Amino acid sequence: MRCDNYCPRCGDPEESVTHAIFECPPALQVWSLSLTPTSPTIFPVSSVYTNIDYLFWKKNNIIEPQQDRNPYPWIIWYIWKARIEKLFRGTDRDPLDLVRHAESECNAWFDANEAGNQCGCGWVWMDSGGVIQLMGTRNFTRRESALHSEVEALRWAMENMLQHSPCQTFGTDCKELITMIKEPKAWPSFATELERIETLQICFPDFKIIHVPRARNHFSDFLAKTA
Ligand SMILES: [Zn+2]
Repeated sequence: MRCDNYCPRCGDPEESVTHAIFECPPALQVWSLSLTPTSPTIFPVSSVYTNIDYLFWKKNNIIEPQQDRNPYPWIIWYIWKARIEKLFRGTDRDPLDLVRHAESECNAWFDANEAGNQCGCGWVWMDSGGVIQLMGTRNFTRRESALHSEVEALRWAMENMLQHSPCQTFGTDCKELITMIKEPKAWPSFATELERIETLQICFPDFKIIHVPRARNHFSDFLAKTA
């Protein structure tokens, strides 16, 4: 039995991986329309290793690494999908449409990761007359759980108060946080985080933590959302 190995898209008699992803005319067209700089002697060439090496490392010398949202993994994937669609359905995918689709999928992935790794937190310091004196807002890298983030936010607020105000009473809309501070031994999985809070508490001789319903805590809630 003979297995035909010709390229389903251009009819080239030998369809290698390099051919399918980099050298077949529709694939080559995709690369030249993409953000990745191409040149006949540098990229793409007839060696799959040289091409992958270029995509992994060399192009970073050309493109600013911090702006590098180069969607080449998506491009490789969609070129491969376009090949399969041609092989099994006989359909052709427009190269420019493929590049745009790969770029938007890549951006959506980066955006989702950036948003997903951050959580906002905010505090306000009110004096005894309820007048806002100071406020702070920042983003944290998302922790193991929402409760971990609450503990982290309290630690940050306590450190801020220590530096900027004589405040000793803290309000939170998280009831679990209050029970954790009062019974740290009951929360062994938070031992490290709660120890830090206990150490900080030494600096607050009149330390108090009270529950403030979310409806009354709207200002710090708002700050957390805008962080
Ligand atoms: Zn081909």
